Amino acid sequence: SLPLLYIVTPTYRRPEMVAELTRLGQTLLLVPRVHWILPEDSHTCSSIVTDTLTRIGLPYTHLATPMPEVYRKQTYVPRGVANRRAAVSWIQNHAEPNSVLYFLDDDNSIDVRLLEQMRYTEKVSMFPVGLIGKFSVSSPVLNKEGRVTDFYDGWPAGRKFQVDMAGFAVNVGYLKKQPRVTMPYIAGHEEDGFLKSLNLQLEDIEPLANGCSEVLVWHTRTFKNQVRDVRPDKEHSSENVQ
Ligand code: UDP
Ligand code: MN
Repeated sequence: SLPLLYIVTPTYRRPEMVAELTRLGQTLLLVPRVHWILPEDSHTCSSIVTDTLTRIGLPYTHLATPMPEVYRKQTYVPRGVANRRAAVSWIQNHAEPNSVLYFLDDDNSIDVRLLEQMRYTEKVSMFPVGLIGKFSVSSPVLNKEGRVTDFYDGWPAGRKFQVDMAGFAVNVGYLKKQPRVTMPYIAGHEEDGFLKSLNLQLEDIEPLANGCSEVLVWHTRTFKNQVRDVRPDKEHSSENVQ
């Protein structure tokens, strides 16, 4: 049968959450053999997320994975890291062997053709991500032989793998063979740290999206509406003021 796609989507409670999950979940419904993993930044699996998942009807796993308080107070918060670490650990223990892991944030947009391409990832595949950073696109750079030799990204920051979280997919068999898989709680370096922990080399990378010439996933961000936040300490904050 077709390799299974484990789509890992960190989420957290805010006014836009149900809209984001509905849009993304209904996109995933177009694709066969998808298992959606929703690690929620919360101490419990909230019923609003459970209800949304039940309504959409995809096979899913809903995890409660709160961000440790110490990180929430930092200037640059490593968003979604506790969530993704828990999902990786769930995959290491419960995943079907013939499968692929893909991190897709709840506010991103994806073309289902990319999901079909990544299904056959043998180690790690990579592809461009649109609407990101200074250059508006982040992509692996290929040589004439079609191998990845470099990256085109507006924020190199000394990273070996200058990619966005939605810019790569990982074969689960390969992941399970790596002894020390982790994702650092360092904003901006989550992807690089994770890929290094997979003992990945540039020559291992499988470029997709027609030799990385097409953008099939976008780092869209949802405008935060000025919806009244019920938490009293946020009542007078400038966070939601335009
Ligand atoms: N996220 C989370 N807790 C937070 C903030 C974000 O779990 O406190 C999730 C969010 O739902 C998303 C991912 O982490 O799937 C990345 O967050 P966001 O989209 O806000 O980051 P950006 O795209 O702006 O870098
Ligand atoms: Mn985002």
